Amino acid sequence: MIEDAKRRFEDLKATGLLPSPKGVALAVLELTQRTDASIPALTRLVQTDPAMAGRILRYANAAHGGSLRHIASLPHAIVFLGLFRVRQVALGFSLIDHYRSGNCANFDYPAYWTASLAAGIAAQQVAHQAQCPPDESFTCGLLAGVGRLALATVFPYEYSELLAGAPSELALRQAEVAGFGLHHAELSAELLEDWGLPEIFHRAVRYHEIPAEAPFPAGSRAHALTAVLHFAARVGHLLSMDATQRWERVPSLYHAAAQLGLEDHEVPPLFESVVEQWQDWGRELRLPTHDFSDLKSLLTLPPDPAAVAGQPALVVLPMQVALVAPSAALRERLADTLDAMGLRVERANDRDGALNYLRGHSVDLMLVELADPATASLELLRSLRATAGGRHAHCIVIIPPSAEAEVARLMLEGASDYLLTDYTEAALLARLHAAQRVVALQGAVRAERESVIRSSGEWARSNRRLLQEALTDPLTQLANRRYGLDRLNQEWSFASHHGTQLACLMLDIDHFKAINDRHGHEVGDLVLSQIARVLEKLCRKNDVVFRYGGEEFCIVCPSTGLADAVLLGERIVRAVREGRHGQVGARFNVTLSVGVAVRTADMADPESLLARADKALYHAKANGRDRVVAARCEVGESEA
Ligand code: GH3
Ligand code: MG
Ligand code: MG
Repeated sequence: MIEDAKRRFEDLKATGLLPSPKGVALAVLELTQRTDASIPALTRLVQTDPAMAGRILRYANAAHGGSLRHIASLPHAIVFLGLFRVRQVALGFSLIDHYRSGNCANFDYPAYWTASLAAGIAAQQVAHQAQCPPDESFTCGLLAGVGRLALATVFPYEYSELLAGAPSELALRQAEVAGFGLHHAELSAELLEDWGLPEIFHRAVRYHEIPAEAPFPAGSRAHALTAVLHFAARVGHLLSMDATQRWERVPSLYHAAAQLGLEDHEVPPLFESVVEQWQDWGRELRLPTHDFSDLKSLLTLPPDPAAVAGQPALVVLPMQVALVAPSAALRERLADTLDAMGLRVERANDRDGALNYLRGHSVDLMLVELADPATASLELLRSLRATAGGRHAHCIVIIPPSAEAEVARLMLEGASDYLLTDYTEAALLARLHAAQRVVALQGAVRAERESVIRSSGEWARSNRRLLQEALTDPLTQLANRRYGLDRLNQEWSFASHHGTQLACLMLDIDHFKAINDRHGHEVGDLVLSQIARVLEKLCRKNDVVFRYGGEEFCIVCPSTGLADAVLLGERIVRAVREGRHGQVGARFNVTLSVGVAVRTADMADPESLLARADKALYHAKANGRDRVVAARCEVGESEA
């Protein structure tokens, strides 16, 4: 399957029609791929495009989160972001600029970019859940759907025809494969790979729309990143919908959030912060975003039903009714019937009174007298519908018989049903029963929705636990080997793209077997935890410390050279040697040995780095233990 997609991608690439960065962004991509790329050269290049320079500066400040001083100059921003990230940001912005419109008539280019922008921001915000660097997540979220744009660009007429039928997501995929040889998610992944994004990103993009199909083990970082992108795409999708569709999609957003371990109460603030940045960046990039005044009511839960429990059960549904009728006689006559049915009725005799009430109270049913269906009446109906309390109500308009011909128009303006002013009691009761059925159904839908959202909290907590457990060594509470090796791979790929240093320390407790033999296995376990705390204490936040296995640990240090890594090793050896270990009252001395290596140009993969550190560790053991030995940087066998 993947092989087919790859072959097909090569064909498409050969057409020269696929979306690609242009102008300065293209030059940035080319420059940063060269081994002699330097920050001053990149700065000079970016300066030739003032819009790009402004955005990179702005992006650097946003990424930097205001925790430090404001980044005021472009060179400073570029140093802060590094070559690799500047490259990605330039790529994303350039594609937005050059593919704002095109020939695919049924592809909504602005809506596509608006949703993608929201997805990028959402991915960046939740990236820490997947232990991903936020900046790469932004580009990855922004471009996860780029395969759609690519199909619209390469096959504008065919793709437009395909989209004309508004197919479901699954049908669209199938039609894409049948018509173009691969579907948009595969194409996105191939493009991201072609543009040089790290492997884990394009692997996750391939599966992010249907995470259940991903072959990644639960708890792996690829698995978590897929869930991040899935959630991000949902956020983008939700923001590009109209209000009613959005309301329906909210539970699935909570569901996707729970998969990331985000609890229900964490979703609204996250969403709000995404929307805020989305509007901000939308202005900057001239993409349409809307205002979300209904955001809170869309996301927050209705009041707890337990709070209204304990009231006597009524035979009829206890609907809350707003009765808006200027004519006193009609109002009283209607109210008598409604009261007799045991409904709770709020009477209003004019527009202002009704609006006032509906802004603060939610009703199930509105009965609205419209003297005539002229503009003023339509306006009244619209404004009642627009209030928080009237939005979801069933609305019966009461009109004079002379206005019956206008009923269709009233329905379009928000009426659900109508009654004539000269109504019979039977007609009124029939309308009320119909209303009751609708309200009951709506109530059931709402209750189900609430329960989905609430249970997502419980589910999120258990997902979070599982995610954590899958990545943590239960004895020492350090990261486990799977997580550590995953991170090593990622840091390796970053360092090799970016030309930064990378160090690795292998640590092994000396004569640990003897400790077990002398003090018992439980004390051995305790010592392992005590050593783990020493490692945590002495390492920096960016270092990846994990239990490699048994009584061996490993530390991966990004942006660290051999001398600094040796210093760290020596601090650890000294701290362990000087500490007292084991149980209170029966403490003893423990030592450990450390092998250190750094990434060099001759190494093919991360395993070579581990092997080099392991070899140095062997030498530390052979030379008397309780010491640090560094592998020489040169190729060969010449460790000290
Ligand atoms: P050296 O100085 O050469 O490293 O000697 P050593 O005794 O530390 O090395 P060896 O590999 O011979 O023994 C390691 C011991 O660590 C054997 C194993 O039973 C013990 N061990 C491995 N995992 C655990 C664990 O989780 N808990 C305890 N208590 N012991 C463990
Ligand atoms: Mg060992
Ligand atoms: Mg040992």
